Amino acid sequence: MKKKIAIIGSGIAGVSLIKAFTDLKEKKLSSSMKDVELAITLIEKEENIFQTYKKNASGNPVAVIHYPVTKNAQYLKLCIIGQKKTKEWLLNLERRYATIIYNTPGLIHTPKNIPEEQKWKDIFHKNAFYEKYFIDENFTKTLSSNLSLKIGLWDSSGIWLNPRKFMFFCLKDSLKKKS
Ligand SMILES: Cc1cc2nc3c(=O)[nH]c(=O)nc-3n(C[C@H](O)[C@H](O)[C@H](O)COP(=O)(O)OP(=O)(O)OC[C@H]3O[C@@H](n4cnc5c(N)ncnc54)[C@H](O)[C@@H]3O)c2cc1C
Repeated sequence: MKKKIAIIGSGIAGVSLIKAFTDLKEKKLSSSMKDVELAITLIEKEENIFQTYKKNASGNPVAVIHYPVTKNAQYLKLCIIGQKKTKEWLLNLERRYATIIYNTPGLIHTPKNIPEEQKWKDIFHKNAFYEKYFIDENFTKTLSSNLSLKIGLWDSSGIWLNPRKFMFFCLKDSLKKKS
């Protein structure tokens, strides 16, 4: 059985979808997928990958991936699954293509503004991860006198990522698996 899939947009969301589908196609993970042939088409309005990177958010030279701060348990769960999967892909891509796409020095994640800081304060003592990695005023001040907000999250599993490189190697990998 043939299934046609159209993905609109070659930003990080579209490229991640292509990678997920081509991995699925390669592994034929579930038995229900055994007889399914996936025909994936990527639709992009820009002329080429360089225009896409130049014009869209996904072309930022650097991005961070950190533990999300949220009250919504389902959203938190999805973010953690996404973070784990991204790390798995990054490790595989780096190994396969002998390149460096990310590093993990750990991150200090701080709220963007006072209302956000208040929101964080309200939820920080309700989750074991936040509780463990919560950093307070004393610590933020020893780090930098310029940090105006008083609380933060020390995320030892945080990632610094080169999104352009990530997308480039995801596409390369997907094309290789397709051929
Ligand atoms: C300054 C800045 C810093 C950021 N830092 C971080 C960070 O540290 N960590 C983090 O997680 N996120 C960060 N973000 C957010 C993150 O970059 C975006 O959430 C993410 O890149 C969105 O990806 P996307 O693929 O959904 O969209 P986009 O990158 O916008 O890609 C959409 C693609 O779809 C194409 N398209 C649009 N309309 C059509 C159409 N009608 N037909 C065909 N193609 C179409 C566009 O040309 C584009 O290529 C940052 C954003 C900015 C602006």
